[in-house]
Amino acid sequence: MFILILGAPGSGKGTQGKILAERLGLPKITTGDLLRAAMQAQTPLGTEAKKYYDAGKLVPDSVILGMIKDELARPEAKDGAILDGFPRTAAQAELVDKTLAERGQRLNHILLLDVTEEELVRRMRSRAQLEGRSDDTPEAIATRLQVYQRDTAPLIAHYAQRGIVHRVPGTGTVEQITEEIKRIIGR
Ligand code: AMP
Repeated sequence: MFILILGAPGSGKGTQGKILAERLGLPKITTGDLLRAAMQAQTPLGTEAKKYYDAGKLVPDSVILGMIKDELARPEAKDGAILDGFPRTAAQAELVDKTLAERGQRLNHILLLDVTEEELVRRMRSRAQLEGRSDDTPEAIATRLQVYQRDTAPLIAHYAQRGIVHRVPGTGTVEQITEEIKRIIGR
């Protein structure tokens, strides 16, 4: 089963994705974590990504598409995965759809974590103090919210046509949101 967790930055994708992956015994593929590891290791990809990442902009598809392809090709993701943080653009969605279709698979569920913008900003600011992420500055936070609306939110309509989008209220306790997701996917 392939499940995409979609939502604005700060909506709790990472938290819920981790819980879901553990419960279903599926790998979680998180492009943000892969980029952070590449930046930390100062690989050429990491160095290229850093200028976009720090500004809160999307890392170009020319860099991300290969990463997505490699991750989906991993043996652990043969029968399913939790996708966290991608696809984020139309080109990424096309690649995911095509790669899975070639294997006779498809995205089964899209969980859209719905959180007000006010709450998103509050969470990212408090996370900035805890984690010190280089893209949790006020300017980068504002850019990330704009980029989400412009480039990623249109994917909701793309997948809604297939009837696989479930809106999950992203406020409440972590446990409440987990329960709601359990109810939606039926396991
Ligand atoms: P995240 O950890 O998912 O909030 O991602 C943090 C940052 O990593 C984003 O603001 C982008 O700069 C970059 N990033 C993560 N995933 C992607 C993606 N699928 N496409 C482009 N950029 C990404």
